[in-house]
Amino acid sequence: MLVIFILKRNPAWVEEFYSNGIYIYISNILRKFLGYFPFSIGDVFYALLVFFFIVWLRKRIISRFKNPQKWVIAAFAKVSILFFLFHINWGLNYYRLPLHQSLEIEADYDTESLVKYTTYLIQKSNELHHRLAKSDSVTVNFPFDKKEVFRLSVEGYHHIQQQYPELTYNNASVKPSLFRYFLTIMGFNGYLNPITNEAQINTKIPLFKLPTTTSHEIGHQLGFAKENEANYMACLVTMSHPNEYMKYAGYTFALSYCLGEVSKRDVCLSENLYASINPGIIKEYQQIHQFWLEHENPLEPFFKLFYGQYLKVNNQPQGMQSYNYVVALLVNKNLKG
Ligand SMILES: [Zn+2]
Repeated sequence: MLVIFILKRNPAWVEEFYSNGIYIYISNILRKFLGYFPFSIGDVFYALLVFFFIVWLRKRIISRFKNPQKWVIAAFAKVSILFFLFHINWGLNYYRLPLHQSLEIEADYDTESLVKYTTYLIQKSNELHHRLAKSDSVTVNFPFDKKEVFRLSVEGYHHIQQQYPELTYNNASVKPSLFRYFLTIMGFNGYLNPITNEAQINTKIPLFKLPTTTSHEIGHQLGFAKENEANYMACLVTMSHPNEYMKYAGYTFALSYCLGEVSKRDVCLSENLYASINPGIIKEYQQIHQFWLEHENPLEPFFKLFYGQYLKVNNQPQGMQSYNYVVALLVNKNLKG
């Protein structure tokens, strides 16, 4: 905790010595060994953790929480091992330099450049949709399965690694989550296990969402811990992907963020822009929305609140809101595939 306290004030050190230093080795070793297993070791680890916690709790209840001097210290010791592993294996990346600083771009943008960029995204998304869908009013049929999307996402990183050597991705470790049912009711597309460095994907989500989700989780594996930065990586990789289906998933993903920002600033303008999008693309968005509606449950807001708190604790003060910083990165970098 003391080390974190110091590092929090020195993001440049974290950037140099951790994120671009030992983290590269730690993450590659973890992925090399755990990537061999076709199932998620991290999910098994989580399941065991929950199991042992229940056993432990049962013991405490039976003994009516007697002898606290014994079990409090033992429990604290175990939690501190997890706390240490979380930070050394991945979590310290939360304290690195913000991406706009390492890319040397502004963190804010004016409405004019936002609208200009959004118009470009609509034009590109429409073009791609027109080529891939049977007509302008239907959704695109992805001609591959979920495993192939994993492979294509890894390939996407290989494709840009010459231009962005810091995004070199070796020893792929991308797996379907064993807990996709739980992830779905919690409202999550996927997650990175911070201790085992495995990217877990919720393969229940519609195929249209899978390329950006997988690329997002790989972005986390490469040490971009913050949500918005992993989203930026997802845009970067999919929008410049040689495969047009991946590209389509990427452009429409970036578009949804930018459109959301336009509507916050100028509702009329966003409606005009919305009207120029192919109806088939709108259908894709609606299907995603529908998917989450169908799996809505009373616990979901609770999980989101918990995750928001988690992000706040881990140096993302805007919590879930920080997802929108991706627009600043996209617009100012004027990202084009
Ligand atoms: Zn994420």
